[in-house]
Amino acid sequence: MGLSPEQLAEISELRSQAQSTLRATAPGMEAHLYKPYQVLDHGFVRVVDYMGDDAAICQAARVSYGRGTKSVQNDDGLIRYLMRHWHSTPFEMCEVKLHVKLPVFVARQWIRHRTANVNEYSARYSILDREFYIPAPEHVAAQSEVNNQGRGSALEGEEAARVLELLKSDSTRAYDHYEEMISSDGQQGLARELARMNLPANIYTQWYWKVDLHNLFHFLRLRADAHAQYEIRVYAEEICKIVADWVPFAYGAFEEYRLGAETLSASALDCVRRMLKGEEVTKETSGMSAREWRELEAVLKG
Ligand SMILES: Cc1cc2nc3c(=O)[nH]c(=O)nc-3n(C[C@H](O)[C@H](O)[C@H](O)COP(=O)(O)OP(=O)(O)OC[C@H]3O[C@@H](n4cnc5c(N)ncnc54)[C@H](O)[C@@H]3O)c2cc1C
Repeated sequence: MGLSPEQLAEISELRSQAQSTLRATAPGMEAHLYKPYQVLDHGFVRVVDYMGDDAAICQAARVSYGRGTKSVQNDDGLIRYLMRHWHSTPFEMCEVKLHVKLPVFVARQWIRHRTANVNEYSARYSILDREFYIPAPEHVAAQSEVNNQGRGSALEGEEAARVLELLKSDSTRAYDHYEEMISSDGQQGLARELARMNLPANIYTQWYWKVDLHNLFHFLRLRADAHAQYEIRVYAEEICKIVADWVPFAYGAFEEYRLGAETLSASALDCVRRMLKGEEVTKETSGMSAREWRELEAVLKG
């Protein structure tokens, strides 16, 4: 997964040094702390630090002096109420700091989420590793015919093999030239900050990414969604598993009221109400565009 034996040893050492603290800790998150989880061919995501737990959300909502916990059921109910009614600030009391290794083209989508704190590996200062994302054959897919922003079925046979070969050989050639340009062997050597411009967008970068739980849920809602690009979705799905163990009540509420929920427009809601009264609503009588009608049908069919 792109971690050297030395880096893995550092992580093991960190996990072997337990500290005592007066602060609240989440047992589910302690189990994940520092551990890297592989994503794509060379990427990973791992928790470097976190603050808060389910109780911290309730504590903030009640502006409490103590832990804020009345009872476990009470906390679950309160968190679901907060999520249902978009009372979002208590969720901002929890934070997580992740270390992520990801291809540059995925990083470009990820960085659009402005409500996080980010520090990226410096390719001005350091030499990038020879690591490129090469999709598994089943993900080498054709342009979608129904969605300009998506992919269709997997390419087959010779075409798939040719695409994979182009991806591999272009990556190798670009990295060979990068090394050649920065080399100071018998020449001055081009600055790293310039040589990197020749590298393709499937090269891996790394960053520390710190975000509060409210904004993390917003990120996960968009990026763990079936319509998100596969290469960012797999990171979001891995983070979902971690968050489910960290704040099980909050994650349960998120799954119920955001991830698995749908928002209906006023016209769509009107159609549903008419259907419930027994009317046979059609695309023509829905009052919606053909595309919106298709989307409503997809939501109702599940
Ligand atoms: C399926 C999909 C397709 C996309 N396609 C494109 C595309 O073709 N081109 C493209 O450029 N982007 C595209 N995006 C990116 C998208 O437009 C958003 O930039 C990205 O999802 C981040 O969302 P956000 O701004 O809500 O998140 P964040 O930046 O994390 O912000 C969270 C919330 O904070 C508030 N906020 C943050 N900063 C500001 C601000 N400066 N002003 C006002 N409110 C703010 C907003 O309420 C925002 O929703 C796409 C995203 C998805 C999920």
